[in-house]
Amino acid sequence: MDKKKIGREDFEALLRGEKDITPYIEMDPAAGTYSVFGVRTASNPNYLVKAIYEMYEVNLNKKLAVQAVRKLFRSVGMGSVGLQNLLKKFGMDLKPAEFLMLVFRLQHQQGWGAPFELVEQGETKIVIRTKQTFESQVMKNWKMPVCGIHQGWIEGILITVTGKTWFCLETKCLANGDDCCEFVADQRESSWKWKAEAIVKGDTAITEYIEHKPLEGTIKLIDDPVVMMPRFIFSSMMNSLKKTMGEMPAGGVNYRAYMDMGKENVEHYKKMGITKPNILADMAFAFYSQMGWFRIIKMEWNEAAKTKTITLEHTVESDSFGNTGKNVCFCTAGLLAGIVEGAFGIKVQGKEMKCRSKGDDHCVFVITNKPEKAG
Ligand SMILES: [Zn+2]
Ligand SMILES: [Zn+2]
Repeated sequence: MDKKKIGREDFEALLRGEKDITPYIEMDPAAGTYSVFGVRTASNPNYLVKAIYEMYEVNLNKKLAVQAVRKLFRSVGMGSVGLQNLLKKFGMDLKPAEFLMLVFRLQHQQGWGAPFELVEQGETKIVIRTKQTFESQVMKNWKMPVCGIHQGWIEGILITVTGKTWFCLETKCLANGDDCCEFVADQRESSWKWKAEAIVKGDTAITEYIEHKPLEGTIKLIDDPVVMMPRFIFSSMMNSLKKTMGEMPAGGVNYRAYMDMGKENVEHYKKMGITKPNILADMAFAFYSQMGWFRIIKMEWNEAAKTKTITLEHTVESDSFGNTGKNVCFCTAGLLAGIVEGAFGIKVQGKEMKCRSKGDDHCVFVITNKPEKAG
């Protein structure tokens, strides 16, 4: 079968809206192929879109699921490098916003992307709008901004065409009850600080920043190397220390070691540019929680007594030890105290008051100011 040759004049006519993609569509139902410009394509089955959102929602909340979809479709947008190279070959040099509009025009005619209207274009900011995207219709019942597919897609296209980092926000969404879907793309570098703050605010989850290369034996979390370890390491370590020095001293050693670790962790955040004590502490709590150490049920601050009470579900030790009839969370107690010490620059003491391993509902820790030692 002869492939329709596409040239510069075709793209120019497409850009002017004088032509559409119809002459370049080849459909062969017997072979099960559907191509545009000789590239295999397909329309967007709604059930697939829904399945993707729902797959992420199983482990995340809806807001974070939209972010995960956005990350996935950033890679799809980066696939526009093929079109970019073709246009370069034809000697066509489109501005980033023009290229973005062309990609969506072509995609829209294939039943995918939205027919965008360019609202604003600058060196570092592009605003585009559409009456609706397909995901805003499919996911309408989420009643919130849902267009992660287009957000990621826009970012990927702009990253490809400019070689710089872009972030796209959806400022209006049909699924959120607005009269259109509007996207604001900003070109800016993403710092560690920016990403970490987004995690604390709940705008994104650490999963978005985990770079796992299992075959190379490396895992990074926002560019910092991390390791995965089995939970039973806690019971194993404790038992080993108990054998050599006895139970109480072993608990004390663990408490001390994890306190230092909590403090060092906060110092690292400080080096990354985080300065506010509350943010430092919240960041550490959010990261450890999202790394699987515990789930925060509540944090209470008693101004009069100057004590902080932290209630946690499934701490790593209580889960590792199971029911022992005693408090077991020395590491977590030390970690929490170290985080508070590091963040607020004060001396504190962390004590576990209730423990799941003792039969309580949750592990409850009280952090109190340590009185200055006399002399
Ligand atoms: Zn939308
Ligand atoms: Zn406990």
